[in-house]
Amino acid sequence: MTTVVLMGPPGAGKGTHAELLAGRLGVPVISTGDIFRAQVAAGTELGRTAQRYLDSGEYVPDEVTNAMVRERLAADDTRPGFLLDGYPRTLDQAAVLDEILATQGRRLDAGVVLRVDPEALVQRLLRRAEIEHRSDDTEDVIRRRLQMYADQTVPLISLYGERGLLHEIDGNGDITEVRERVFEVACQLQR
Ligand code: ADP
Repeated sequence: MTTVVLMGPPGAGKGTHAELLAGRLGVPVISTGDIFRAQVAAGTELGRTAQRYLDSGEYVPDEVTNAMVRERLAADDTRPGFLLDGYPRTLDQAAVLDEILATQGRRLDAGVVLRVDPEALVQRLLRRAEIEHRSDDTEDVIRRRLQMYADQTVPLISLYGERGLLHEIDGNGDITEVRERVFEVACQLQR
């Protein structure tokens, strides 16, 4: 069983590399951003709640996100483990994750961080905006998301570092290069 969280700023390539990492570990990817976008597209109540936060680059309130993840982690497909992409993003969420796992008799095995230079991030996100037309890929919102990450999410890296769970990956360079580095970490996690 392998339980992993994947962290990194917006544009770091979490979505691009999550499937490879999870595939190697034989666990499902759980991306809170993807779940929120699917709920928005389906026009559910959760989607309506989430939409304004997504559009402005703010985090969806913890109680909403935590409840969603709690439910998702109760599903049978997470028994072999999971790769969480985009959760936890706040210290409160990290505490809730610990609590969810403790009640299930398991705990977190690893926190993987994709690190990318800030200038490269903005460029990547602006390029993605042209291709995917995500509502949150405008320059102002991108800056807000990067700020949210620096303020709210970076402290988690220290938390997992102190617990000895951290694996850092250099996310600079092209996708093939980064993929090789992700692959190496997957091998370490399998040991
Ligand atoms: P990115 O990492 O590129 O910003 P995501 O697809 O992971 O994109 O998330 C998009 C948006 O979904 C976030 O800006 C936020 O509004 C919301 N979101 C995703 N995960 C969380 C979370 N754990 N807590 C709060 N909001 C979240």
